[in-house]
Amino acid sequence: MSLSAMGTRLSGKTVLITGASSGIGRATAFEFSRTAPDIKLILTARRIDTLKEVAAQIEEESKGRTKVLPVKFDVSDPKEVASFVEGLPEEWRAIDVLVNNAGLVKGLDKVGEIAEEDVNIMMTTNVIGLIGLTQQIVKIFHARGGKGDIINIGSIAGRDPYAGGSIYCATKAAVRAFSDSLRKELIATKIRVMVVDPGQVETEFSVVRFRGDKAKADAVYADVDPLTAEDIAEVVVFVAGRKENVVVADTLVFPSHQAGAGVMHRKSA
Ligand code: NAP
Repeated sequence: MSLSAMGTRLSGKTVLITGASSGIGRATAFEFSRTAPDIKLILTARRIDTLKEVAAQIEEESKGRTKVLPVKFDVSDPKEVASFVEGLPEEWRAIDVLVNNAGLVKGLDKVGEIAEEDVNIMMTTNVIGLIGLTQQIVKIFHARGGKGDIINIGSIAGRDPYAGGSIYCATKAAVRAFSDSLRKELIATKIRVMVVDPGQVETEFSVVRFRGDKAKADAVYADVDPLTAEDIAEVVVFVAGRKENVVVADTLVFPSHQAGAGVMHRKSA
């Protein structure tokens, strides 16, 4: 099988994806393997059994060419973040691409009524964990002479904050500001900092928001044609697969019925 130019560029790289047990992270893992089968994937999340299933499926689909290391890792735990790299087997530490994807939203509560627990889990997962892991991985990139990719999954919520989403929107605005600062800090290196901001994607995201209430989650996607996790995965792999001097710094991806965080055209409207 001959590889595309993008496949050739990615071939042999080691890619670390957080939140790979579901949705965008999981789809991104498959997309990397399909584009460059000889890639090495470190897949992390809290649900290790699900990750192991994803790993087995990718290994089977790639006929053993893609090597996958599933790692149980809670990005909201600073101790786990601090010891993450040293906990990897030696041959997996030469990470080339970091996809900071793990993230979540809880509820639609208004300020004054948001449970402290919800504030904390969104902040520690979406912001503190992402920053902590980036601090670890950027050292690896510097040690090899300043080379590597950091791809942060933000959201339209970080650009267009909406009522009932104050904390989630603030976390994604933080991802945006952190990424923009980092890109400037790294200007003299070949380390690329890229942000992909999805609009509405149908994943487990809304099920998590509504604490397992599938009917409420399904209502979010009623009468619309949301993006799939694969749509965003294609964009993530595309930006990672550009030539070394091309930095797709910032990408906003909507489904065709969406033009803002709360601007949706529903077929029944
Ligand atoms: P998803 O299907 O719920 O996937 C979220 C992933 O994050 C899961 O693999 C989950 O794994 C992981 N995760 C959550 N908390 C974690 C923690 N503390 N430690 C490690 N992993 C954790 O949702 P998704 O839509 O794919 O979300 C992926 C990213 O896209 C998030 O950053 C989200 O904010 C962003 N995004 C989503 C949408 C959308 O409409 N879906 C839109 C814009 C941006 P475990 O539960 O196994 O830990």
